[in-house]
Amino acid sequence: MFKKFFILSAAVFAVLALSACASGEFSSDFFAMDTYMSVKTYEVDAGDAVKNEAERLESLFSVTDEKSEIGTLNANGRVEASEETVDLIERAIGISGMTDGALDITVYPAVRAWGFTTGEYAVPSPEKIEEARSLTDFTKVTVEGNTVSVPDGFAVDLGAVAKGYLGDRVSQILKNAGITSAIADLGGSIVTVGGKPDGSPWRVAIRDPNGEGSVGVIEVKDKCVVTSGGYERYFTDEDGVKRWHIIDPATAEPADSGLLSATVIGGGCVLCDGLSTAIFVMGAEKAEALWRREEGFEMILVTETGDILVTDGIKESFFLSEGSAYELKVIG
Ligand code: ADP
Ligand code: MG
Repeated sequence: MFKKFFILSAAVFAVLALSACASGEFSSDFFAMDTYMSVKTYEVDAGDAVKNEAERLESLFSVTDEKSEIGTLNANGRVEASEETVDLIERAIGISGMTDGALDITVYPAVRAWGFTTGEYAVPSPEKIEEARSLTDFTKVTVEGNTVSVPDGFAVDLGAVAKGYLGDRVSQILKNAGITSAIADLGGSIVTVGGKPDGSPWRVAIRDPNGEGSVGVIEVKDKCVVTSGGYERYFTDEDGVKRWHIIDPATAEPADSGLLSATVIGGGCVLCDGLSTAIFVMGAEKAEALWRREEGFEMILVTETGDILVTDGIKESFFLSEGSAYELKVIG
């Protein structure tokens, strides 16, 4: 009986393996950077290469790993960092400048005070919130050569841009391997190489922050699509208010801008990741002004009042879900 089962399953496996080769499609999924990731490529299997890269970057950037470069910086107040860590810190600070500090990589004391690092969620006392606020200021991070330092009590958290950095690396790795058609979901940061093998665009669903389904689909080629949403990690406080893991650096409290999610689409994944977090903090009005002022990105904003705001550059490639209760408006 056992032998028969073995022969049968071996045959099934062989057929599966053959069909994978025949269609030239390779899929794999894994857990890294505290989230599930998946990658689909054609012609060349790049699953292991992507997983290895995610693990390599995690060992540099992880805020919870004391041995990572960021862990060392936070424990000692300074670190001799790799070029990549220095580069990501500098680019994040650039996005902070661009967004009036809505993105702030020194927001970690607040993230910790609200329990988002441990999962022991609680509303901190007003004193604790004030303390966290006084320890949040990206202009206090200094970079001299490869030496990064922060004042006493300050800490750096690259959580808002790390998956974007991975996205840009993955895109490069896949292209270097000769891959012309691929899609990777790096835990809410989607990176696409080319379009589908038939030449049509990739269709990326944008999750409904109010439910399980999606609000619509965006069609893209060779782009990153990054969403920051309150639904990812949150708890409900005593007053029934949802408190989520994206913090307004100005108050050291969870952002409360009227947005339920912010999706940013563009060619650079670090920019998209940093901006999606910042825009979730800034709210629709300031985001609109930012979009008019800066180049290189488009956005899809889902508001508390049931609107979906889509910028002009993607109005032809965004498709609202059928029967949607949301109202679609174009920022032009
Ligand atoms: P996620 O990585 O969960 O998909 P984000 O890219 O928006 O979502 O990053 C959120 C993470 O970034 C939080 O878990 C926290 O570690 C950190 N963070 C929260 N608020 C901010 C902020 N205003 N600026 C920079 N980092 C933040
Ligand atoms: Mg982000």
